[in-house]
Amino acid sequence: MGLRDRSRHQRNHRRYDLLADTSRQWRLLDLQALDTRLSQIAHRRATLPELAELVELDAQASSLDGDLVRAQTALGDIQREIVKADTDVQLVRERSARDQARMLAGQGTAKDMQALQHEVESLANRQSALEDIELEVMERAEALTAEVSRLKAARAQLTTRVDELNALRDKAFAELDTEVAEIGRSRADVVAGVGEDLVGLYEKIRDSSGGIGAAVLRQRRCGGCNLELNQVEMNRFTAAAQDEVLRCEECRRILVRTSESGV
Ligand SMILES: [Zn+2]
Repeated sequence: MGLRDRSRHQRNHRRYDLLADTSRQWRLLDLQALDTRLSQIAHRRATLPELAELVELDAQASSLDGDLVRAQTALGDIQREIVKADTDVQLVRERSARDQARMLAGQGTAKDMQALQHEVESLANRQSALEDIELEVMERAEALTAEVSRLKAARAQLTTRVDELNALRDKAFAELDTEVAEIGRSRADVVAGVGEDLVGLYEKIRDSSGGIGAAVLRQRRCGGCNLELNQVEMNRFTAAAQDEVLRCEECRRILVRTSESGV
């Protein structure tokens, strides 16, 4: 063996130090397909549109709750203002009624009568002004009552939608969980068929290669990184025994040969 051959032999030995018959290698592709599906399910679980909408609605609910508390507080304040305005009007009315009764009774001097007359007129003006205030306060109360009703209705609508979304999310999760459980059962069989040594290598590569540990060699192209193999690599693969576990020179993933590999 010349220096050049020995060097190539050592390199080959280092690269392809695992042997596994073709049926085990093909089972490895089944394993990869199951794991890819598991990754898709995990991704689907994390990115369900219902989850994003629930986060959005949660923010809306907090904002609505804040608005509702403020509107209810303002309404409470204004209701106290109405009571006060009403009391003020009532006091003026009573006083006016008393003055008028005294005038009707005709007790006191002409000057007293004149003073009473003057007060009754001034009380009438005061009552009119207080009633204007009361009216304005009642209008504000009406607007706030409408606002509280509107906010309560919006909040109720939001709660209904949140309940719907929670139900949709739970249903989607349950379906995904069922599929995960089914895959888990198949996976155990496939793992047994692939064998511990090859599964070990595959897992190691998969962890460091974005979830893809094994790929098909299809028409001279690595199904993992999608790069085309050069001629030197192709020659090496063509010469390799069927049970040699090949690795992509570029991405180091396990490459499984099939009838479409071109080697
Ligand atoms: Zn590759």
